[in-house]
Amino acid sequence: AATRPSTSPYDAEMPLDLDLRPSSQPVPAAERAAALADPGFGRYFTDHMATARWTFDDGWHDAAVHPLEPFTLHPAAAVLHYGQEIFEGLKAYRHADGSVWLFRPDQNARRFARSAQRLALPVLDEDDFVAAVEAVVRADAAWVPDAPDGQETSLYLRPFMIATEAFLGVRPAHEATFGVVASPAGAYFSGGVHGVNLWVTDRYVRASRGGTGDAKTGGNYAASLAAQAEARDRGCDQVLYLDGEEHAWLEEAGTMNVFLVTADGELLTPALGSILEGVTRDSLLELAPDLGLTPVERRVGLAELRERLADGSVTEVFAAGTAAVITPVVGIRGEDGTGAGYEQQVGDGTPGATSLRLRSTLLDLQYGRTPDLRGWLR
Ligand code: PMP
Repeated sequence: AATRPSTSPYDAEMPLDLDLRPSSQPVPAAERAAALADPGFGRYFTDHMATARWTFDDGWHDAAVHPLEPFTLHPAAAVLHYGQEIFEGLKAYRHADGSVWLFRPDQNARRFARSAQRLALPVLDEDDFVAAVEAVVRADAAWVPDAPDGQETSLYLRPFMIATEAFLGVRPAHEATFGVVASPAGAYFSGGVHGVNLWVTDRYVRASRGGTGDAKTGGNYAASLAAQAEARDRGCDQVLYLDGEEHAWLEEAGTMNVFLVTADGELLTPALGSILEGVTRDSLLELAPDLGLTPVERRVGLAELRERLADGSVTEVFAAGTAAVITPVVGIRGEDGTGAGYEQQVGDGTPGATSLRLRSTLLDLQYGRTPDLRGWLR
């Protein structure tokens, strides 16, 4: 063991020969239909899942799509103690002609590989990631809800990887399991898009430079729960996180990237670094010029936001992510250095026109209502 290299020779290889073992006991059609009629989010799971195992000595093996089943883990499995895990989130959309499409799954595959590197997990070949996701969607196509015009229903895919080795030493585990589960998702906003208020937290930070903020790993989300509870206590819907060093620069809004729309037509968002590189964020920046907006990525100060909300040169604020596409922000609240509270409205306190236009542009693409000029659908 002393002569082992720190990374396995099999890290980048996964000859994913997906064994297909269809479920002999799928959820009865009537029960599935009832779930699809009111899926909510993350409550129901489909009939199948994909898994593959990785060991340091043999690389990836045992890749299969098979009936959804619980895991058996040794109580000393590394993931349970040191949180060595990563995940992804993306959706399959049903178009009017019945066909089912993934939106930019290659971007999730790329981010998954980067998260794996940060968490010292084996890297899964990006094509194999996409193949596994596709295979689950194929096996469970009946679980992709119909999306009649304007209904934002989808099948949410949750790829993940956990360190399964039973070993209590703190070092990268020599065994890991990759999996994909799927869960039907209803519209994020029932009863129309509405705006949210953000709580600017001074007490909690999400990430700092050199940390794991740019990786999609469970610990980031565990750490966010107390901050989210604080936002709720303050009468807000979500947290607006500031940077870890100076507590002065905008980072993210809850589990979404944050954007500002300016009076002079900029679509402004914090630069990458300690934030998660959202697929929605990237897509909006690329689509911006089509809508006459200039995309800008740079540091954005809380002081700048507050000044520009006050003088009207920032007209809209929104949060962007796969779950809701775009969530308009209608107000921010926080405490200044002296502990005095402040509260500022965004625009006229209702969802902004540009935010809503960007939102429908992306949704129209995802649901096949406009041509896919960039080849983003698969
Ligand atoms: N930031 C965080 C912390 C997130 O969890 C997410 C959701 N994955 C996002 C941003 C948005 O990313 P995406 O657009 O890829 O969903």
